[in-house]
Order: sequence, then C-alpha cells, then structure tokens
Amino acid sequence: MSFLSIHETFQETIQGEGYWLGIPCDFIRLYGCPVGCSWCDTGYADGGSNIPAERVEIADLIAELKSDRVVISGGEPFFQPNLKLLTEMILTTDRKVAIETSGSCWQRLSSEVWITLSPKEHLNPKFPVISEFWQRTNEVKIVISDGTEPYFYQQYLRENCPLFLQPEWGDRDRTIPLTLKLLRAFPHARLSPQLHKYLHVP
Ligand code: SF4
Repeated sequence: MSFLSIHETFQETIQGEGYWLGIPCDFIRLYGCPVGCSWCDTGYADGGSNIPAERVEIADLIAELKSDRVVISGGEPFFQPNLKLLTEMILTTDRKVAIETSGSCWQRLSSEVWITLSPKEHLNPKFPVISEFWQRTNEVKIVISDGTEPYFYQQYLRENCPLFLQPEWGDRDRTIPLTLKLLRAFPHARLSPQLHKYLHVP
C-alpha cells in the first residue's frame, strides 16, 4: 500500500488559473510546503503548523476522482516521495494530470504530466528554482505582488513557453492595475485572474 499526506481533495470544479483556465477538473492538494510565502492562500505562510495532514492511500485518491483532468497542487507536491507513483496511477485511468509547483524540489516525471511552474525564489532564496524546471515546465505562472517579479525571472522566460501573470488576490485592488501594466511590458504574457475566486467555487 502506498500513502500520501493530503491537505484536501475536491472534485468537479474548474481550473481557475493559467493555461487551462475554465476547464473542468478535480484537485488533489498535497500536504506541506517549507517555502513560506507571506501571502500563501493555502495556509503555508508559517509552514502549515495549524493544518492537519491526512495520510491517504493512493488507490483511495484515485477512486474518488470524477473529472477527466486532475490538478495536483499543495503545498508543494514535489516534496512528496510518492508523487511520481500518484501521477502514474492517475495516467493509467486515462486522465490528464497537471502539477503546480514552486520548482524548489525536483523529480523526473512522465512527459505526459503538465507542469505549471510558479516560482517563489524571489520570496525565499533558500528555495531556488531547480534549473531542470525551466526547460521541463509547460507554463510559467508568476504571482504579482510588487511588480518586480517577472523581471527577476526574465532571463529564464522563453517565448515558446506560455507565461501568465497573476495578481495577488489578497491585495487585488492594487495588484490588478499593476499586472495590467506588466502585460504591456511582457507582450507574450497573459492574465491569470484566479477565475474560481470570482465564481466562488473551490
Ligand atoms: S510555495 Fe506555494 S504552497 Fe508554498 S508557501 Fe508559497 S504559495 Fe504557499
């Protein structure tokens, strides 16, 4: 039996961010993240000390899936040793799999797995992006807080890799206009609005 530490799971929602915006999917949120972004909207700003972890067997996670697409997020999924096994077991059910990561821990996964790299090195240099991610990722999603973020990663951004700029939700009255301005400075970028929050879906 193979287990994973889970933060939460929910089914039959939509992807609210990035390239697959609006597509139906299920979410598996894995437990834990040491990066410590101050605005973390999943509760890991302080490492998640108040969040209970639940150990769940992978087969049980697969059994509760309802959508053709599964998003694995966190926390930080790549810190979990059984991540690869989870993706392989989902792929055997003929579902699409996507993972959202800060890129601070590396595992080699099937090329069928869609990777969304949302780097946080500018917030915590103790967790730099592992260099392999810049080539492997299918999209880059940068959360905009003070407007310097895309410049911090500019040397790694490739024209042929979709780039999304996402206003920090908690301060959106300030970060939305800031992000709209940045879209003009980075012409191959698109807005990632966190649609699920506007629609009030999980
Ligand atoms: S990397 Fe993601 S999960 Fe971790 S603290 Fe930052 S926003 Fe939260």
